Amino acid sequence: MAGEPQADCLFCKIIAGEVPATLVRETETTVAFRDINPQAPTHVLVIPRVHHHDAAALAAADPKIAADVLREAGEVAAAEKLDSYRIVFNTGSGAGQTVFHAHAHVLGGRGLQWPPG
Ligand code: IMP
Repeated sequence: MAGEPQADCLFCKIIAGEVPATLVRETETTVAFRDINPQAPTHVLVIPRVHHHDAAALAAADPKIAADVLREAGEVAAAEKLDSYRIVFNTGSGAGQTVFHAHAHVLGGRGLQWPPG
């Protein structure tokens, strides 16, 4: 059921402590941890504790928690002392989404090009 933990979801396992991760911040509704394959000096993932397939599905089902994810992305950037950074929601496999549990990438600490590849 939407929102419920999924047995086969990597990020649900990180939330449950079944898969190790380098945690950065936690709130009642979100968890932030370092990406295992960083693409920038700061590369942190912010995820909701509830399971939804992608960010748009999360926002449709629970806009308050979607806002929590976005706010936490800003808190991560502030804690990492980033004055410029990028928040990315890859949505769909064609856009590079590989883990189908909504997540924000927070990237910073180097110059970021536009448009992204
Ligand atoms: P996506 O490609 O936008 O779905 O982002 C998934 C991200 O999860 C990728 O940047 C991966 O490097 C990252 N990732 C995959 N497995 C782990 C893990 O076990 N810990 C932390 N990050 C992970």
